[in-house]
Parts: sequence; C-alpha cells; structure tokens
Amino acid sequence: KEQNTPLTLNDEAVCIAEKQVLEGAPPLSSYWQLFDSNELVASRAQQADSATVIFSLSHNEQIRALAQQVHSLRLSRGAGLKIVIREMQTSLRYSDERLLLACGVNAIVPFGAPMSRFLTTLESLQGQRYNRHVPVNLEALLFSLQPLQLRGFLPLERFCQAVTQLVDNTLLPENGKGLLVALRPVPGLKPEQALTLCKPRRYGDLVTLLGDRLYLFLSSCRYNDLDTALKFIFRLPHDELFSNRLVWFEDLQILSEVRQLKALAPEAWKDMPPKLNVAPASVAPAPAATLRQTPQPVTLSIQPTGTPHE
Ligand code: C2E
Ligand code: C2E
Repeated sequence: KEQNTPLTLNDEAVCIAEKQVLEGAPPLSSYWQLFDSNELVASRAQQADSATVIFSLSHNEQIRALAQQVHSLRLSRGAGLKIVIREMQTSLRYSDERLLLACGVNAIVPFGAPMSRFLTTLESLQGQRYNRHVPVNLEALLFSLQPLQLRGFLPLERFCQAVTQLVDNTLLPENGKGLLVALRPVPGLKPEQALTLCKPRRYGDLVTLLGDRLYLFLSSCRYNDLDTALKFIFRLPHDELFSNRLVWFEDLQILSEVRQLKALAPEAWKDMPPKLNVAPASVAPAPAATLRQTPQPVTLSIQPTGTPHE
C-alpha cells in the first residue's frame, strides 16, 4: 500500500520558494527548493499538497499575477498548502493585503521584517490548514475588492450614493471599509476655499461639501492612519485649515450619517442637471459656483450619529 502513496502526501516539510526570499542565502536544508521566479514556484507547487510555498513581492504591479497564482493553487491543491508572501522592496496597501488573503494566502511577511522573523512565521504555519472560504470566481473577487473608480469631488447625492454602495459591499470586512471624515474650516476660510486645497490621489477617496463642512471618504484607510492620509491630501497642514473634525468608521455609523447628509441637502442640489453629477478627475471648481447660485441659505444643524471621534 505504501508503495502506491503519491510523493505529494509526504511534502509537509518541503519549502518551495522564490530565491529572493532567502536574501541570497543558499537553500537552508535539503527540504528547500529555490526557483528563479514566482511563475516557476507556482508551477512546481501545482504538484504539492502540504508544502510551504513562498512567493516574493517586489513591485506593486505583481499583485494581480500573484492573486491569480495563489487563487489557482488554493482551489486546485486544497487547504493543506501553506502559502506565504514575503514583501521584498515595497509595502502593500491594506486593500491589497486583503485581496491576497481572500485569494488564499496564509501569511504575508511585511517589508522590513528580518530573516529571523520570516523564518518564525514559516515555523508558526507548520501543521496548520487554511480554513477560510475562497470564492471560485477570481474576476468577481478582484472586481468587488478593487476601489471605486471615482476620485475627488462629487456632488452630495453622488457622494452619498458611492459611499453607500461601498459600505454595502459584503465582501469587504465589516467596519473596515474606510473613514468618513467631516472637517470644518477655521474661521475666515470658506469651505469652498478649503476644497480647492483638497487633492485626493487614490481612487476611492471622495470629497463633497455641505454647509460649512467638507466631507471626505477615505477608502481602506484605518483610523490610526488618518493623519498620514490627510497630510498627503491637503497641501497645507490640516490642523491649520480645520478647527473641528469628526470621524466615523463603523458601517452603521457611516450609513446613518450619510442618510442624515442626504436629508440635509438643499432641494436645489438634488435637482442638479446630470452633467454636473459627473465626477471630475480632480477637485472641481463647480461646487463653489453652484453654492453661490443656490437661492436659499442652508441652516446647519448637523448632529453626528453614533459616537464619532473628534
Ligand atoms: P504610508 O504612505 O505611510 O500610508 C500609511 C497609511 O495611511 C496607508 O496604509 C493608508 O491607510 C493611509 N493613507 C495614506 N495615504 C492615503 C490616501 O491618499 N488615501 C487613503 N485612503 N489612505 C491613505 P496602506 O494603505 O496599508 O498603505 C501602506 C503603505 O504602502 C503606505 O504607507 C505606503 O508606504 C505604501 N503605499 C501604498 N500605496 C502607495 C502608492 O500609491 N504610492 C506609494 N509611493 N506608496 C504607497
Ligand atoms: P493612485 O492610487 O491613484 O495613487 C496616486 C499617487 O498618490 C501615488 O503615485 C502616490 O504618489 C500617492 N499615494 C497614494 N496612496 C499613497 C500612500 O498610501 N502613501 C504614499 N506615500 N503615497 C500614496 P505612485 O506611487 O506613483 O503610484 C501610481 C499608481 O500606482 C497608484 O495610483 C496606484 O494605481 C498604483 N500603486 C502604487 N502603489 C500601489 C499599492 O501599494 N497598491 C495598489 N493597489 N496600487 C498601487
């Protein structure tokens, strides 16, 4: 009976790795098999069952190909395979990490982690089985995890619609879609002026204007990273531009706030001609003019819902 046992059943201790992950060192033992590229690693791993498979990640352009390789391996070779990615020269975005994990990666070793830490991660995975669900349709997964193809200023209705659509995406983690931020400019600075200093760069980062506040939605941004993101997005230090800030990050809080924003929108905004509802590639000058033409003044009584963080 033993003679018929396929070799792959005995590959628990084998490490199939792209050679960069060892930083130039030779194979660490006879169990290590090094390859010149991720493609060769993926191809060898197609015959493995319980081995540790280690890919390297040096450029962000590799993310899509890696996602495909990992997804294919996980579906065809099953839960015994231990799939690891080591970041070599670049830091992955949180949203990219999420994508790779959803495709079936067991662990991502961050850029800057020393060799010893990398080896400890490999050790910690031994004997483990991958037990999360991996959707069969990779294209659908890629599509639903990619950021909204919108960036910059959106009229309020369109902003609320885009944020609601994103928060309703059940493939994204609960309470981890991003941050909704309300910013009130310092006295003397009009919201329209503050808007011209706001330059969102990432797709999925949106901004709108209501009354005396700017509302930003920062996709896949974590609460701790808010200051970093605002520093990049505003040309001047944001604490000199804004006297007050409220932040919502839980799904229900964001949805509830968006509902309130829609309710507060002046009727004139809701009837904007369709051409004004098209999102420009960067901050549009349009809202300032639109606001000035609105005949009725807006009385602000924004009561943030939930427990926003100031
Ligand atoms: P970082 O530049 O220090 O940014 C840290 C975190 O701040 C990001 O973590 C993200 O949560 C938030 N953040 C920074 N800028 C923005 C922004 O414009 N929009 C939004 N929505 N969030 C922002 P994350 O996403 O996990 O990225 C981790 C690191 O990966 C970044 O650290 C940076 O080193 C690198 N990175 C990600 N995307 C890019 C990029 O397009 N270009 C460059 N040069 N580096 C990037
Ligand atoms: P993008 O997402 O539209 O970002 C445009 C530029 O905003 C980036 O140009 C970078 O200068 C800045 N940026 C955005 N997010 C961050 C951040 O978290 N930290 C820092 N330090 N800068 C940030 P860059 O770096 O030349 O990238 C050009 C494009 O390449 C990006 O356009 C994006 O499409 C892609 N890209 C770069 N890094 C990453 C990444 O880590 N993950 C993904 N998914 N795409 C990336």
